[in-house]
Amino acid sequence: MHRIVLATGNRKKLAEMQALLAGLPFEVLPQSQFSIPDAVEDGKSFIENAIIKARHAAHLTGLPAIADDSGIAVDALGGEPGIYSARFAGEPSDDAANNRKLLELLADVPEEQRSAQFHCVLVFMRHAADPVPLVCHGVWHGSILFAPRGDNGFGYDPLFWVPTHQCSSAQLEPVEKNRISHRGQAMQLLLQQLHGLLPQYR
Ligand code: IMP
Repeated sequence: MHRIVLATGNRKKLAEMQALLAGLPFEVLPQSQFSIPDAVEDGKSFIENAIIKARHAAHLTGLPAIADDSGIAVDALGGEPGIYSARFAGEPSDDAANNRKLLELLADVPEEQRSAQFHCVLVFMRHAADPVPLVCHGVWHGSILFAPRGDNGFGYDPLFWVPTHQCSSAQLEPVEKNRISHRGQAMQLLLQQLHGLLPQYR
């Protein structure tokens, strides 16, 4: 088994990643196991921030590393909140306050101009100086509702209308959300790309 560090303290993400990579010769370990301080996420894009986090974890552990970055981009706001999704309404991160702020900013924006996308970027780096990290980008297209709907999920899910399913993201069953979401898509891409790397790890 080859050890990989996952650059997150989030237990749910760790469990998801372990389940995804079950069957491959990789053991996924949380970065908390190495007492790593958080990376300074000062990139300007999801891709930069995911690379910064993966490089930081690879550098401090000497292991290959996986990191993710995600958020929502609203077209009428020029792509905001984007990489600032978690703290859109300020620190500490507050989902309800973020959703209120988004609804206020879009109050006068008509339905046909409320398009938005969830993005998730997953990065795999073989080592801290890896010049060609694997970069897997999942995009989920939808639009922003005028009021929250549904109780599942987290973050902006109650405001995200999923046109393919005619409901909000918070009204989807978790299994279905994971199948079609930005994160689910990025995970599938990562799985495919890691399969391609396997000969290097045998
Ligand atoms: P993180 O990358 O998991 O820290 O997510 C960044 C922020 O983007 C979260 O705090 C949420 O506000 C938002 N976000 C990312 N993915 C989702 C999702 O699947 N549903 C709702 N909000 C999300």
